[in-house]
Amino acid sequence: MGERKKDSDRRVGRRALLIGGAAAAVGTSVLARDELARLWWRMPSVEKPRKAGEVDFRGARWVAASSANWRRADRPDDYDIDRVIIHVTQGSFDSAVKVFQDPGHGAAAHYIVRKDGHITQMIRELDVAYHAGNRDFNERSVGIEHEGFVDRPKDFTDAMYAASARLTARICARYDLPVDREHIIGHVEVPGTDHTDPGPHWDWDRYIPLVRKARTAQAKA
Ligand SMILES: [Zn+2]
Repeated sequence: MGERKKDSDRRVGRRALLIGGAAAAVGTSVLARDELARLWWRMPSVEKPRKAGEVDFRGARWVAASSANWRRADRPDDYDIDRVIIHVTQGSFDSAVKVFQDPGHGAAAHYIVRKDGHITQMIRELDVAYHAGNRDFNERSVGIEHEGFVDRPKDFTDAMYAASARLTARICARYDLPVDREHIIGHVEVPGTDHTDPGPHWDWDRYIPLVRKARTAQAKA
């Protein structure tokens, strides 16, 4: 994809510049070695420190997805995050957790929201989760699953909408994303997908204002 290519070119350019600059400085003085050490830590390939079990959303419970279902990255330094993608599990919360732990599944999202509003995080936002069925969109998005079935509107409870809205509001604040339908999309809107979730019963006219309200409340807190 054109966008993807531009993005990687930019990153290669930035890295080459850092290496080039550091190499040019080496040998000119002893001070240059200190500069090289500093530059090294600023390089995009050096990952941020991580703690086992750490979550990106306070209150979420950590359950690790199988490493076969995501790819290690260092977002937003290596890939910009510009979207939240809304999914529906087409099954129970427990079965979604189970398949995301299964290395044979080949897919998983960052978060799963349960009907009662509980949130489990399975992949760090730093990393690329395989949830959208589109590499470019995976690299640039955070994926949120919701327990339920697309053809059962009663699955989408008040508690689920509220919890999901708080989560999405935090993500939008973290990566400076406008709260709108361009930056918060359904899996069905991802180019090339054959998935239909979150389906016609997901109430966007209710959800987006809830995210806006949550973001305003969080900004004041
Ligand atoms: Zn989906």
